[in-house]
Amino acid sequence: MIEISQLAKNFGEIAAVRGIDFTVRPGDVLGFLGPNGAGKSTTMKMIAGFVTPSAGSVRVCGHDVQQDPRGAQRLIGYLPEGAPAWEEMAVLGFLRFIGAVRGVHGAECTRRVEDVIERMGLGGVRRQRIETLSKGYKRRVGLAQALLHDPRVLILDEPTDGLDPNQKHQVRELIRGLSGDKIVVISTHILEEVHAVCNRAIVIAGGRIVADGTPQELEARSRYHRAVHLHFSDRGADSDAAEARAALAALEAVSEVEVQAGGRRLVVVARPGANPLGAVARLVHDRGWLVDELHVERGRLDEVFRDITREVA
Ligand code: ATP
Repeated sequence: MIEISQLAKNFGEIAAVRGIDFTVRPGDVLGFLGPNGAGKSTTMKMIAGFVTPSAGSVRVCGHDVQQDPRGAQRLIGYLPEGAPAWEEMAVLGFLRFIGAVRGVHGAECTRRVEDVIERMGLGGVRRQRIETLSKGYKRRVGLAQALLHDPRVLILDEPTDGLDPNQKHQVRELIRGLSGDKIVVISTHILEEVHAVCNRAIVIAGGRIVADGTPQELEARSRYHRAVHLHFSDRGADSDAAEARAALAALEAVSEVEVQAGGRRLVVVARPGANPLGAVARLVHDRGWLVDELHVERGRLDEVFRDITREVA
């Protein structure tokens, strides 16, 4: 478990993190979201023990990061922003070095290094100096070192930043496969990533937590949560769409009907707490509208993100 209590960090005049509290339990994959400068990296560095808090505490599986840094750091794999340090080392040498620092030696070290090289697709660059690698490969080396000692807690600062779509997919699969009894905290600007891998999301803005819930709970705050999209086929476009617009707007569960694609697509926006799907489907059936597409939105995380971070300086 990670227990964070009243955690704060000032850099001179700058209050980067202003007293945040949260707990992460085994099996949780927590997505940390927020605009640039919100305090995500600073919080992650404090959890990993790389930055000393100005106030508050972090406990990792019972070990206080300040009082017992070694005990806590043994349990943590940390991927910082950007590229790994010691860029002049070759990939293989760097990973062996990290293994030794982590107390993994001999055959066990070789086995684990080969395992992370395989998992992160680093076989082709194992003898190359890190400074000569592309951004995506540097990121993979960073992930490989974070996973090397099979830690119970993974703190990953923008793990898919700079990766190509295949690697992004692979890293997300890897993170999904990891959970179980592990704790994973990732920061990301990619909102689909939250949906793809996280079972919980914390939004931070101006150094404070402004939302905390499951991705589904956040999406439910969207104006488009349960909105029904109807697309009218060529034959039905004109007459049906015009009739449908008025009929749909009159439904009790509907707050508004938006018109797109020159009138061919209607977005039926739900009243808060209501679900218009049943009533919409009945109307489509009863009136015989020529609809070639009908689907329901979960909600738009980007819109929710904008709304809840906008007011915060
Ligand atoms: P991004 O999404 O851009 O990575 P972030 O949410 O990770 O942003 P932080 O890097 O935690 O944000 O920064 C929070 C605030 O603290 C910013 O105003 C930043 O300029 C400031 N800050 C971070 N590190 C330092 C430092 N070492 N010295 C001074 N100010 C710092």
